[in-house]
Amino acid sequence: MSIIDLDPETTSNKGGKNLVVFDIDGTLVRYHRKRNDLAYVHAVKETFGITVRDSWSDYLSSTDSGILCEIIEKNLRRPCSPADISGFKKNMAAWLDIDYGGEPFESMPGAKECLTQLADSPLWCAAIATGNWEFSGCYKLRSAGFDFKDIPFASADDGSSREIILKSAFLKAGQKSGITGFKKAVYVGDWTWDVKAAAALGWDFIGIASGDEKKAIMDAGARHVLPDFNGLIQLLDRV
Ligand SMILES: [Mg+2]
Repeated sequence: MSIIDLDPETTSNKGGKNLVVFDIDGTLVRYHRKRNDLAYVHAVKETFGITVRDSWSDYLSSTDSGILCEIIEKNLRRPCSPADISGFKKNMAAWLDIDYGGEPFESMPGAKECLTQLADSPLWCAAIATGNWEFSGCYKLRSAGFDFKDIPFASADDGSSREIILKSAFLKAGQKSGITGFKKAVYVGDWTWDVKAAAALGWDFIGIASGDEKKAIMDAGARHVLPDFNGLIQLLDRV
């Protein structure tokens, strides 16, 4: 059962628009030579004295907020507090500049052009949903040269599960466009947790991946996978 009701009869989507939602890490933005969460790893060490690896597949969550709570509960044997989160974010903001300030992120080929085309589309609204905190997701997009100020944006600040973040993106896109429901929703992501979140919500999914990552997301159920954003808009009309 879908968490979000996409039944056209219960919505007011008179224009018949669809929604496409984009992940950031490994999707809009390429994986960095230093990987994408080095600042997160450094901030965990600085704030809590805990050493973690930039690898999150063993966590129940796939979001910055959910993973931080798991790290604190597992290592410090107590719940995560608002003070933990604010102290961590302050340190992580400094580490983003230290780790990536001199070596910017790169956009996925065709990603900027895709967002530009979707801004004028009569059929599609675009939104961003990331497991990053809002400030770190914005940092990566700015670093890679994206203009995203007019695109609805949901992040780990909206919830600790990817499904809640996608739902938040859906609601924010509806508020911005004046549409209280979309005919259908598609999530574009690069990893197995993206496939699972889209399936949990009853959304369609398009993967951006190659090689082992492509195999992993196809094994998780993805049926449409592209190496980058070239051809994505044409594919959107077919899924
Ligand atoms: Mg990703």
